[in-house]
Parts: sequence; C-alpha cells; structure tokens
Amino acid sequence: MRRFSANYIFTNTGNPIRNGVVGVNDNGEIIEIIDHKDGVKEYAHTEFRNGIIVPGFVNAHCHTELSHLKGKVEPNTGLAGFVNQIRNHRLAGERGNEESISNAIEQMAKLGTVAVADICNTSDSFSAKQKSGIKFINLIEVLGLESEKVDSILERAEAISEVSANQLGMPAYITPHSIYSLSVKLWERLAVILKNNPIVSVHFAESRDEANFANERTGGIFDNYVRWGLSFSDAPNASPVEILKRYLPKDSRLLLVHNTFMDEHQLNEIKDYFSNAYFVLCPSSNLYIEQTLPNVPMLSASEVKIALGTDSLASSPTLSIFSQIQLILNHFPKIEFAQVLQWATLYGAEALGLEHSFGTIEKGKAPGLNLISPFNFSEMKPYPNSKVMALL
Ligand SMILES: [Zn+2]
Repeated sequence: MRRFSANYIFTNTGNPIRNGVVGVNDNGEIIEIIDHKDGVKEYAHTEFRNGIIVPGFVNAHCHTELSHLKGKVEPNTGLAGFVNQIRNHRLAGERGNEESISNAIEQMAKLGTVAVADICNTSDSFSAKQKSGIKFINLIEVLGLESEKVDSILERAEAISEVSANQLGMPAYITPHSIYSLSVKLWERLAVILKNNPIVSVHFAESRDEANFANERTGGIFDNYVRWGLSFSDAPNASPVEILKRYLPKDSRLLLVHNTFMDEHQLNEIKDYFSNAYFVLCPSSNLYIEQTLPNVPMLSASEVKIALGTDSLASSPTLSIFSQIQLILNHFPKIEFAQVLQWATLYGAEALGLEHSFGTIEKGKAPGLNLISPFNFSEMKPYPNSKVMALL
C-alpha cells in the first residue's frame, strides 16, 4: 500500500480534509482515508506533499485522433472557418498517426486525466488507447447530409464500433455530430440506435451559425455547404432544441458539448425536456475558434450538471483539464474552485457513466489522485502558476 498526504484532500464527498491521508493499493483502489481531525499523527510510508490532492480528472469531450493537427489550424476563424480548415487537411490526405495520438494521450495522463469520452470518426486512435492506462469511452460520430448515403454511413460507424467494443474491449457508442450536419433520414435511423445507447453526445451551440442554418438557411455553415456543393435541403429545418427533442430520447444521458452561444430560453427548454443532460464546456477551444466563452455563471446558477472537456489539439493548445479549470476561474472570478473541481471530476464521471469508480476519493473506488501545487490556502483556489501532477 502507498499512503499520500497533503495540506488538504478534496474528496468531493464533504469538506476538504486537512492533512488527510489516502491509502491506495497496487491496483489504484482506495483502501483507507484518514482524517486526523487536526491532531497530527505520523503514519508509516506516507508521502506528504505541499498543496492539495484531488480525484483524477475526467475529460468529457476530446478528439485524440486529430492530434496531428496541433498548431496547423488558424485561430479566430469562427466555427465555419474552422470546419473548412479541418476539411482541407483531410482532403489533402492528412490522417491521424499513432505517434501524435500516443504523445497526446501520454501527456493527458501526466496531467491527471483518468477517463475520456473521445469522439472517433476512424479507428486511428484505438491502438494508442490500448497501451494507455486511461479509461476511454469511444463515441463513434456520424454525420452526412445526403440521404442516399445513410446506409453506408451507418455500416461504417457500426464496423468501427464493433472493432472497439468487441475486438478491443473499449466501450463504443454511435453518436450524432451536431444538429446541422445530419439529414432527416440519418437522424431517423439514428434515433432507433440511440434508444439503446447509455450515452449520447452532440456538439451544441458552438456557434451562432448553427441556429442560423437550422432555422433560416443562412450564415457561415450554410455558405460552406453551398460552396462545397452539398445537398443541405435534407437537413432538418427547425430550431436547434426542437431537433434534439425530435430525435433524442428524453431520458438519455445527454452530453451537450460547448454551449458557447446558449441563451436562457434554450437552457430552460433543454432542462424542461431532458432529464439527464450534462453541459460539457471546452473553454480553451471556444477561445481558439470563436474568441468567446459560454455563459458559465448562467449555467452554474441554473444548477444543471456541468462537465469539462478539451476538444482536440486542432483547436486547443492543450488537452489539460486543469487548464480548463484555470480558464474558468480566471474569466469568472465569482465561481468557486471547489465547484469547478466537481465539474472536472464527479460530474464528468457521471456524464460518462463511470461514477462507480471515478470522480470522488472514496473507499473501493480507483479514481486516480492528482496533486495541485502550489495552492492559495487563504482563498482556497490555485494560483495562476499552479501545476497539476498525477500521483498514481
Ligand atoms: Zn468536438
């Protein structure tokens, strides 16, 4: 057994434990949690660190297969411009390669990420993931505006999903890309599949152009489709929330990713209809693409469940969840660290259906342990120069 101690242990199950000790077995399972109640005792084999110990982070939205695009995509182009750049790289024959994906995954593990919901359009990332200690949930993404291609789109997604789940033992679920990139026919077929999926993830309200396209057939996404010669007329013509309601089960564990342009009306419509929605925020990616952030105080005050993601290295300089925490604390100083920590750990674990093992420091779980140091104890939050390190 190894014992870890720090100035405070944030367990996510109650108040932080001052000078607490966490005992972990060789499998990373927590077997004891000691609260000295301020009486300082020495325990054998205890590694004491300055700072705080928190549960491992959960990244609720990533695309590791795009890691080869790090530094290759111009920032500040808006979503339509970003999508256009990604498409051009793909048309130029650039594909994910194992080295860039392995490096990205290794870095994520060092920076304390223990579980990831990873969007996959291909099986490019599977072999690198097999070699990693991170728990991956593979979300096999489908999109396509041309009704006549529905069969081939779904067959391909099912084949990728089968390799992940049945051959490699990594959970995999088919999921829609967004409200603006699927034909009605694809949505209808997908709706049947999604009824049996434990998790559905959709890019949502990442740009104003989404609603402009869905409602009115205007804006940058519409312009892209016209320029690319795509038959967008088969896409649903309705409000973004209406499209979600039409095709997704009410009680889905639904990950709405980004929410950058979500307003209060949309938020309430979603809250009133979906009983198990998680609002996944990827602040570094939003700043890179749209130079703006979601209305975090609105989301926080509405008491919906928030989780954190990074998006890919094409749009985020880092896949660090701690960087997302720091961005939120920096831009929204009234939001408390302990709250954002819950988003990065417990709610992320719940969003992925992994709360039985991750998200809190409790006996019987194996959530991973991270050290954050130095730590501002008078304000109970990290300093701008604080760093995170995985202890296990
Ligand atoms: Zn994404």
